[in-house]
Amino acid sequence: MVSVSWMIRQQYLDQSGAVLNKAAAVVTDDLAKRKDALQKAASQLVSAHNVGSTVWYLAQYAHSNLDRETLFQTYLQLARLVRSTGLAAGASKIQVYDAAGNLMAFTTYEEGGCHVGFVDRLSDTRFYVAKMRRGEEITETSLKLVDSVPKVAPSYTAPLPHERRASYAVVDGRASIEVAVPIIDEATDPTLATPGQKLVGLVVLDQTLGQSFAESLARLTDTDIDVFTGDRLGFGTLPAYQSLMLNTPLNLTAPAKDKIWIDEIKVGAVGYYQGVVPLYAHDQLVGGVAILHSKAPVEQAIWQTIHILGLIAVATLVFVLPITWYFAYSISRPLSVLGAIFRGEANTPAPDASNDAERRLESEARNQDEMGALVRSFIAMRAAVQQKIRQIHEINASLEDTVSMRTAALVVKERESRSLSENSPDSIARYDHDCRRIYANPAFLSMAGQPLDALLGKTPSQNPGGPHAAVYEEKIRRVFATGDNAQFDLKWMGKDGRELCSHIRLTAEVDHDGKVATVLAIGRDISDRLEYEETIWRQANFDTLTSLPNRRMFNDRLEHAARYSHRTGRRMVLMLIDLDHFKEVNDTLGHDQGDQLLAEAARRIVACVRGTDTVARLGGDEFAVILSDVESRESTEQIAESILARLIEPFKIGGEEAYISASIGVTVYPDDASDLNLLFKFADQAMYASKNAGRSSYSFYTQNLHISAQRRLRLSNDLRRALAGEEFEVYYQPIVDLGSGHICKAEALLRWRHPEHGLVSPADFIPLAEETGLIVPISDWVFRQVVQQVKYWRDRDTAFQVTINLSPVQVRRKEAVLAEWMAYLSAEGVSGRSVALEITEGVLLNADSSINDKLLALRDEGIQVAIDDFGTGYSSLAYLKRLDIDYLKIDQAFVQNLATDADNQAMCEAIIVMAHKLSLRVVAEGVETAEQRDFLKAAGCDYAQGYLYAKPMPAHEFERYAWSVDVGL
Ligand code: C2E
Ligand code: CA
Ligand code: CA
Repeated sequence: MVSVSWMIRQQYLDQSGAVLNKAAAVVTDDLAKRKDALQKAASQLVSAHNVGSTVWYLAQYAHSNLDRETLFQTYLQLARLVRSTGLAAGASKIQVYDAAGNLMAFTTYEEGGCHVGFVDRLSDTRFYVAKMRRGEEITETSLKLVDSVPKVAPSYTAPLPHERRASYAVVDGRASIEVAVPIIDEATDPTLATPGQKLVGLVVLDQTLGQSFAESLARLTDTDIDVFTGDRLGFGTLPAYQSLMLNTPLNLTAPAKDKIWIDEIKVGAVGYYQGVVPLYAHDQLVGGVAILHSKAPVEQAIWQTIHILGLIAVATLVFVLPITWYFAYSISRPLSVLGAIFRGEANTPAPDASNDAERRLESEARNQDEMGALVRSFIAMRAAVQQKIRQIHEINASLEDTVSMRTAALVVKERESRSLSENSPDSIARYDHDCRRIYANPAFLSMAGQPLDALLGKTPSQNPGGPHAAVYEEKIRRVFATGDNAQFDLKWMGKDGRELCSHIRLTAEVDHDGKVATVLAIGRDISDRLEYEETIWRQANFDTLTSLPNRRMFNDRLEHAARYSHRTGRRMVLMLIDLDHFKEVNDTLGHDQGDQLLAEAARRIVACVRGTDTVARLGGDEFAVILSDVESRESTEQIAESILARLIEPFKIGGEEAYISASIGVTVYPDDASDLNLLFKFADQAMYASKNAGRSSYSFYTQNLHISAQRRLRLSNDLRRALAGEEFEVYYQPIVDLGSGHICKAEALLRWRHPEHGLVSPADFIPLAEETGLIVPISDWVFRQVVQQVKYWRDRDTAFQVTINLSPVQVRRKEAVLAEWMAYLSAEGVSGRSVALEITEGVLLNADSSINDKLLALRDEGIQVAIDDFGTGYSSLAYLKRLDIDYLKIDQAFVQNLATDADNQAMCEAIIVMAHKLSLRVVAEGVETAEQRDFLKAAGCDYAQGYLYAKPMPAHEFERYAWSVDVGL
């Protein structure tokens, strides 16, 4: 209660204080600040009230500290102010007094000018006076210091006269304290003023404002106001208070500056609150404003407040408690239960608890329709929500199951595909849109021979780089651009510098928008396959021994060269080269050395032709050369000659020297034939011509060659008929025992009496018979002829022996011809000693075990074996001994030059000595002269055969000759 009344009281006082402080602020403002307001107020007041004769200013100067000069300037300003105010107000006189009531400035107006002056306060006796015309400015110089106040201004030392009817007013919206003085003559007379009175404010006007100011303030502050000046009450509305205050002066010095203090006083019998606002000017207390509030209304207000509070308290008891209860039990409790349900739902749901709460709620809400409806709808909603939540949980659970199943499946898939790609022998890489590698499998890394980080993020042309990679990258870009997959073979330079080849498949990997996002590149290393194919191709087309094209490739090249020739009109030459004596080299030195010789021969032939020409090996010791763009016959001849020359140079093979030569047949396309088969045949014929011409020579194909070849062909046909047609005949040439001079043996030599050509030499038809295989039946026939003959001759000479030439072809044959022969011998009752077989050295050299066996079987039957043409081939003495050879027949070539050739003599002597050492008998062939015979006889040769004794002759002639002629001489 106390605080409430205090608050109310304080509120009133604060309002009053604010207004009064405002007023005080105006009062305590310094003069310069107030000037405009004063001027305005003065002019308004003067014009409003039509006054104007005298204006007094009351001003206060604390000038004791000022020096004279500053004071003078201040006065000057004051004088100006006074003058301008007076001018504005149209006043005839203005006088300014200080707070002490001393005259400070004055002005008097006259027609056409005025006097302005002020008092030199330091001397108190001197005045500055200026008499000025209208419009003139007061300056320092216009002021004259005079010792006495001009006549126009009253001398004044007394305090300002005081008029108790002075009043307050609100001027221009601002409160100011004024003292209104009626314009009376005394007012200008300082002597009428009450001494010692302190005044503050502006003295204006000739009319009282009366109570208006106090009333204005009272209205503003809604209280009684009285105003004090100095130590007593100035004027007011409350006479009792006036008299009270006159008797008990206020102690205005006590309160602090700018503070309102409040007392409780009694005026008459009535209690008041007295608030006093001190008024200060320049830190000097100049007065105060007292505000009186009757205590009665305040106390009444307090009681009213208490009454209201009481009412409130009662009302609270009457209304608030039930409302609170209502809120607590009707709204907030259901709400809190609802909240609990919510929280329960939000937290772990406890179905029983929430059901409990629901039941409670339902029962509680039964009597409250809206709340009940709300709760019921909430519960329904909650049930629906729970239902939904359950469904969502179920869906979630099934989704989770599905997701985890799918994830597991994906993981398996991912693992499978990763292990697939990581273990793939194919290189796998993926490229992004900028052709940068974003994946590479281990196969790729090992192929590149680089770590993953060196490869990723790089384009093929950055790594590994090079022209192949550029091609590769271009292909990838094309897949990006077109979206079409691509396949191609690409060659790489492998890490070891080996050229590799990959079959690459580029697959466009498309995103959702159907754009190619990445390109997958799968590369299969097909280097081995290519190499294999290459090998197969080489094997199919090239000869492994010499690396030259084989017959198949040769045919291709030949066709190609022919087409070229046909197109350009230039000639093409085909040469067939057959090595002479290669067979002997092969038989003598072995196949390995023979192979080496062939390879070297191939190199020599290649060295003789241009790079654009073809050298091929057709098989065995047969080569072919295709010369394109042939300029002349001479150039072809040169090439053929150089080939021949190179091939007769010795071959150094395995520490031994071997000698061969070659026979070359040459044909010219299209001159000789435009059919390539024919051309080849003609080349073959030409080659045979070279062979027949004595070997180591070349022959161009001619028409004659063809004719002779055709003749050979006819001959071979004739040969088939010869046996049946009994065109053959066996001639016998005697072999003489050099010691006794008796004819003890004969060599059976075959003769063909051709019905057209007459006698054909065996040198001509034996090779033909060997080629055609006719040699077998022919030899058979010869053998039987000889057996029959020797059977007959044995009757005459039991030791007589006929030697039969055995073809190598026949010896090598698998058929048991020899066995048949021996059976024939025994069937005829002819001793094996009666026949001897002549074989050439070559047969022995490569004799395999079957030939050995055959020869040994012959020995068992007592059939002797002679080595024919000994010395021309490659003989091995070891064979001679091991195979139990009986005779050596020194070749005619050694015998025929014996007289003149010391080498041949030595050779014959050596052969004879050696043969004898090995227990072999020696037959000299081709003995034509007595000198030869004598030399051989002297050298110890056992037998001789030759024209010196007799040419081969028919049996009946031989009979006559052998047993009638004694050649022993
Ligand atoms: P070959 O076995 O060296 O026969 C010796 C050849 O020398 C015979 O030639 C013979 O007439 C010839 N001749 C003998 N003495 C002299 C002489 O003093 N001076 C000269 N210049 N020549 C002499 P032919 O009969 O023309 O036989 C040639 C070759 O035919 C034989 O050489 C032999 O290898 C082969 N031949 C002959 N008859 C047969 C046969 O029935 N079977 C087989 N497989 N080959 C046979
Ligand atoms: Ca012979
Ligand atoms: Ca011979």
